[in-house]
Amino acid sequence: MTSPRYARHLLLPEVGVRGQERLREARVVVMGAGGLGAPTLSYLVAAGVGRVTIVDDDQVDLTNLQRQVLYATDDIGRSKAQTAAARLAALNPDVEVVASPTRITAETVGELVRGADVVVDGTDNFTTRYLVNDACVLAGIPLVWASILRFDAQIAVWWAGHGPCYRCVFPRPPEPGQVPSCAEGGVLGAMAGTVGAVQATEALKVVLGIGEPLVGRLLIHDALRQAWDEMPVRRDPECAVCGDHPTITSPQEVEQPSVVPADDVPTVEPIDLASELARGAVTVVDVRGADERAIAEIAGAEAVELERFRDGTAAEVLPAGSIVLVCKSGGRSAEAARLLRAATGREARSLAGGVTAWARDVDPTMPTY
Ligand SMILES: [Zn+2]
Repeated sequence: MTSPRYARHLLLPEVGVRGQERLREARVVVMGAGGLGAPTLSYLVAAGVGRVTIVDDDQVDLTNLQRQVLYATDDIGRSKAQTAAARLAALNPDVEVVASPTRITAETVGELVRGADVVVDGTDNFTTRYLVNDACVLAGIPLVWASILRFDAQIAVWWAGHGPCYRCVFPRPPEPGQVPSCAEGGVLGAMAGTVGAVQATEALKVVLGIGEPLVGRLLIHDALRQAWDEMPVRRDPECAVCGDHPTITSPQEVEQPSVVPADDVPTVEPIDLASELARGAVTVVDVRGADERAIAEIAGAEAVELERFRDGTAAEVLPAGSIVLVCKSGGRSAEAARLLRAATGREARSLAGGVTAWARDVDPTMPTY
């Protein structure tokens, strides 16, 4: 443990030889080897954490490479967990790097976190966030959580017994369509590095028992202002999992469909839209911005951006007759349809699954993003 590899740690009185030993004895599980997981994993492995487990059942995709810096172009299509594990093992052979290409479910999550000193959540959907939170609360494991979108991030350490858990502060997921995913809303790639490095710092602090971890504090980052704020957060005695009378005694899945259901908005399937278009029976209205339309667009579509539905000026420019609203995957077009109906009473349909589904079902030559 006095290896020159850790010389810069050994110089720190807060770490030193004893701290480095603690790191070597530690077991950290990282959920998700994506934008946040890539920097977090790199720093944890470089720091000499004894065992690092990478949980991710996904494969590397071209759209990941803008921010998921563990992967190279040649890795497209390969298992993220296994590719990351191979790269990280080369970074530091002292560390036992375990690849777990396992899907995080109510059945698997308890076993996945078992024995961990710290869990890091780098996943990007509400289903896994609640599952991982519940499993960590029930096992008493501190959870270093973060979420990023566009230019904004939130980071906290949830630790039952010491402060609130994720459910205390976010008792239920947002309504479908309220909060877009990074795939729908975008994210500045470098920001994943900023935030993942903060998560690694918090995980190392918790293992070392130094400083003041982000327990009871929600750290809020605005990259455009390059500003950091924090908000105190408290344990909720009524919390379903860590409260005084918990109703959740095993990890609970929350409903969070990946594609926003348009239950209250009429939708049309890509195949059916294609035949309506062939008959000239409908006009497609694309609610995305120009940059997205430039990547992939349904031929003949008119552009009326979502903002105009939000500010109420869309109705003035929409074509007459039957219209179908489209976006990337169906969330924003459903929102636009709802806004239009609320403002004018006019019914518009939304393309189910957006241009992504159109590329899959109708036009495989259309690029996806
Ligand atoms: Zn709680």
